[in-house]
Amino acid sequence: MLRKKKDKNSKSGGEPVLPALEFKPVNADKQQAQGLMVACRQVEQYPLLVTLIAQAVSVRADQVLLDYTVQGASIRYRVDGMWETMPPMDRPNGDKVLEIFKRLAGMNFADRRTKQKGKLPIACAGDWILEILSQGTPNGERVLVKIDPKKPILKTLSDLGMRDKMQEQLKGLLNANDAVVVVSGAAGHGLPTMWRVVLEAADRYVRDFHIIEDKITAEAELINITQHLFDSSAGETPKNVLASLLLKQPDVLVMPDFINEETLQTIIEEVIEEHRHCITKIVAPSAAEAYVKLLTTHKKQSKNLIKAISSVLNVRLVRRLCEKCRQPFQPNPQLLQKLGIPSGRVTTMYQAFIPPPPEQRVDAKGNPIEIEICERCGGRGFYGRAGIFELLQITDEIRKVAETNPTVEAIVQVARKVGHRTLQDEGVLAVATGMTSLQELQRVMAPAKA
Ligand SMILES: [Zn+2]
Repeated sequence: MLRKKKDKNSKSGGEPVLPALEFKPVNADKQQAQGLMVACRQVEQYPLLVTLIAQAVSVRADQVLLDYTVQGASIRYRVDGMWETMPPMDRPNGDKVLEIFKRLAGMNFADRRTKQKGKLPIACAGDWILEILSQGTPNGERVLVKIDPKKPILKTLSDLGMRDKMQEQLKGLLNANDAVVVVSGAAGHGLPTMWRVVLEAADRYVRDFHIIEDKITAEAELINITQHLFDSSAGETPKNVLASLLLKQPDVLVMPDFINEETLQTIIEEVIEEHRHCITKIVAPSAAEAYVKLLTTHKKQSKNLIKAISSVLNVRLVRRLCEKCRQPFQPNPQLLQKLGIPSGRVTTMYQAFIPPPPEQRVDAKGNPIEIEICERCGGRGFYGRAGIFELLQITDEIRKVAETNPTVEAIVQVARKVGHRTLQDEGVLAVATGMTSLQELQRVMAPAKA
């Protein structure tokens, strides 16, 4: 597995070349902004801040976490959902870096206790918006930096990794008439992104879509979906907005959640009696669990829910194997059997190439071995993330079981009989195609957190 380094320009030894970075402080007065930049550049630690952020961007981190304690400032980057520890800064340097950072983001740098929020646009191999959140902790201060692209990247079901056939099935279900489609996912597995992408995939040009949301939690508007807000902080419920909306005979009701029993009842009745369509979402680690959770949370409406729900989509994020450095291997028959793959179907599987840490890069005699670090993934073995999707179509057989025995086990058992592929089955498919590794699949499947 250890390969000799061939490329003299490879970055395994020296410092990687970082993209140029330009801070663009938000300030109405141009001269003031320029003055601020000049003042910050003069601080000795300014290059440390530039390196901290440019390095994060260059490794595709979407978050940076700084923890200030008496000893110093620890630094972590989040890449594809995994936290990586970086070399820490000592406290005097760390403090100065944070001072410059807070000044540029329009925050009060002298205040190390109160919860603060700042924004700082940057140009660094593209345009980004940094959102900086700081708050005092018992031992010091914690600073979270979110790095978001300035222009949100519009993703499609394909971008997220859904296979073509499932896309077709899902679109058919989304564009049907009198049913409830449920979108679900485990916490921290991209449900908010999935939700937007699913709504984007529905045909919003032929039919009119309406979303009912609480003013407090409402998300950014989606194209061709009319937003109807109510204000729960003022004691409002969706009752009034829903009543006036229903007068307009809407085709599709988008409900990020059902808010209360009364709203749920009204909507389900509209679906069943008036042939309207509804799309909703719920946090749950699998499609069957999402289905059972809906039925047991809303016991009074469970009969109608069983009648109305047509399908449940579920998503779990995995890291994609880096295609440049992934390592092929021949799976043995026992492994294939364990995964439920018929023998002969898959001859090559892949695993990640993770180089050993520098201190272990020595041969038997203790002489250092140079190992080529993949430039694409930086030796992580993975590059980017994709979803594993489960699409549970609620058949009459499943409905029958749900009425008498609404448990996850019973639902899964009958679903499998009619050919349903569970999240685990879909994950094995992703491993068999080399999209991800078995270890990665086991990692994301292990914690059953909802
Ligand atoms: Zn790689």
